[in-house]
Amino acid sequence: MTTREDCLAMDTKDPLAFTRARFRIPDGVIYLDGNSLGALPVTTSARIDDVIAREWGGDLIRSWNKADWIGLPARVGRRIAPLIGAGEDEAIAADSTSVNLFKLAAAALKHQAPRRVILTECENFPTDLYVLQGLGGLLGSAVELRTVSRNGLIHALTEDVALVALTHTDYKTGEIHDMAAINTAAHKIGALTLWDLSHSAGAMELALNRDGADLAIGCGYKYLNGGPGAPAYLFVARRLQDKLVQPLSGWMGHAAPFDFSDRYRPANGTLRFLSGTPVVLGMAALEEGLKTFDGISMREVEAKAGALGGLFLCLTEEQCGDAGFVIACPRDSAKRGSQVCLRHSEGYPIMQALITEGVIGDFRAPDTLRFGFAPLYTRYVDVFDAVAKLSEIIRHERWREDRFRIRAAVT
Ligand SMILES: *Cc1c(COP(=O)(O)O)cnc(C)c1O
Repeated sequence: MTTREDCLAMDTKDPLAFTRARFRIPDGVIYLDGNSLGALPVTTSARIDDVIAREWGGDLIRSWNKADWIGLPARVGRRIAPLIGAGEDEAIAADSTSVNLFKLAAAALKHQAPRRVILTECENFPTDLYVLQGLGGLLGSAVELRTVSRNGLIHALTEDVALVALTHTDYKTGEIHDMAAINTAAHKIGALTLWDLSHSAGAMELALNRDGADLAIGCGYKYLNGGPGAPAYLFVARRLQDKLVQPLSGWMGHAAPFDFSDRYRPANGTLRFLSGTPVVLGMAALEEGLKTFDGISMREVEAKAGALGGLFLCLTEEQCGDAGFVIACPRDSAKRGSQVCLRHSEGYPIMQALITEGVIGDFRAPDTLRFGFAPLYTRYVDVFDAVAKLSEIIRHERWREDRFRIRAAVT
């Protein structure tokens, strides 16, 4: 049996223990949902106050130059680049993940003509599927969306595929794809790859360039700690940047936005993947979120992520072995993102009871309890206390109260 003292000892030895102080975690809360909304960094409130009061309130429109608001997308992109294994001129912050997927998928498809097949998996995150379906609706016969199951992917990589669009860490099961192997297989048949890193970046060591990725997108509000609705980012490998043109050709992606020319001319590099004016408040908060990674080795982040998830699974088997949970994520940490998921027929009320008692995870229909472990602020003892609480709720059947069956709009 693993004891609470064992977990406290692991925290003492944790090389990342010091980064928890970079966050404001409420007392009495064990937060296991940093994979959906990262916790608040201690510096964010003061930064946003400053952007509002001094930069906006005092300097007004002069702040576009004086505070370099105009440079925020590229500046924030330069902070994201090392977290994903990209060169600093290969990532830029912009828009939302959904919109960035639309822009890059459309650009890739145009580049790959006359090929017209986008290959994806049916387990992909819904917005990824919906955006690709929308692109299909717009382009009609110029695109064919081929959606196959995860284990049919390699088989479906035929010479007509233009683009392989996948989510690196599965949002529900936490399974990760072998990015290098899929990039190699895709390139062999002349396809490009587009990776959604939403549940990967900030939780593991990523190496887009070493692994040969072409394109990527991802969220700012999950492990990157950018705050609710934070801007997203996109990555375009340097070799492709000037070959791709995206369809949301707004003025911020123009080579000279303040020439106010009447003809679109794309900027060089990643700037051409911008569309409209950057969301300054959101970008400033994302920049603070990314500072929580200063001086940190992503290899250590990945090692801790694997250890926290492994500990959770081990404790669940020890303490809740007969409670009816089915482990629905890979047990091998090398195949799993920084999350675990358990399936249970009463998953929804169990998760609501847990949240009421201060252990915050989330629920994904129809029956999945999901627990994310943001390595920068989750302690081993938190995992112990969370599983102990889960076991207590099951033993005393506290999840049976009627109030835990009421479904909220966001689960
Ligand atoms: C969270 C997430 C998104 C979210 O996209 P938004 O445009 O921010 O709503 C997209 N894709 C994946 C894989 C995600 O996990």
